Amino acid sequence: MNTPAFPLPAAARLRIVLVGTQHPGNIGAAARALKTMGLARLVLVAPEQFPADEAFRRAAGADDLLAAAGVVATLAEAVADCRYVLGCTARSRRVQLEEFEPRQAAAQAVAMAAEGEVALVFGRERTGLTNEELQLCHAAVHIPANPEYSSLNLAAAVQVLAYELRLALREPGGPAAAPENRHPDEAPASHAQLEGFFAQLGQTLDDIDFHKGRTPDSAMRKLRRLFLRAHPSEQEVRLLRGILADAQRMARLADGRT
Ligand code: SAH
Repeated sequence: MNTPAFPLPAAARLRIVLVGTQHPGNIGAAARALKTMGLARLVLVAPEQFPADEAFRRAAGADDLLAAAGVVATLAEAVADCRYVLGCTARSRRVQLEEFEPRQAAAQAVAMAAEGEVALVFGRERTGLTNEELQLCHAAVHIPANPEYSSLNLAAAVQVLAYELRLALREPGGPAAAPENRHPDEAPASHAQLEGFFAQLGQTLDDIDFHKGRTPDSAMRKLRRLFLRAHPSEQEVRLLRGILADAQRMARLADGRT
């Protein structure tokens, strides 16, 4: 494999997250899929059965990866330190996320891994990812399968993405992804920082009576999509939060509450 021109090998910053996996065999098969493609980091969110013998059987020699897998309770925990999160989905959902095919997704993920942690998230065998879980992602990935039969086995979907990641990591001179227009000294905001911003944004919209009785969900979904697409830096998030704090202060003044 060509050595990518990154300060840290980008592969070390890529994690695969399996949410609520129902069959332990699929966890093992996913570990095997990752190891064949030179990836090593697996995180399990509330697996139904793990550790399990079946997982180790199906891992067929990738058991080191399984033994090292992190197990956490929620997707938010699994991606809290990530700069970029991609959610893999068997169908296009109502959640309005930017949607990539695996090749573009892998290029984007490898490019983002040059500056921070990146996660690729896979859903449950029966029901996939919930809309709330997809909302935690910056973008969605859909393997353009047969539209009448589009749901791959979980480990097969992991294999497709892992293969594309391997090709993107091998690209001479780094991956061909859209360049970021951020100042090189500015670190991209982490997932937790963005969630903090979204919570304050939601509160501010209430404080200034933006919704006027309408339900806030649709506006918040659109705003999340806008800001997630922009990949703001830590400094930009601080600036935005400063503006919100002032708007909140003015709303309190106007209310005669201060
Ligand atoms: N019945 C579920 C499919 C779950 S398949 C549903 O309709 O959502 C388990 C997981 O494999 C999915 O959550 C997704 O992460 C991944 N997956 C399966 N097929 C995929 C596809 N065509 N594109 C992207 N991811 C896919």
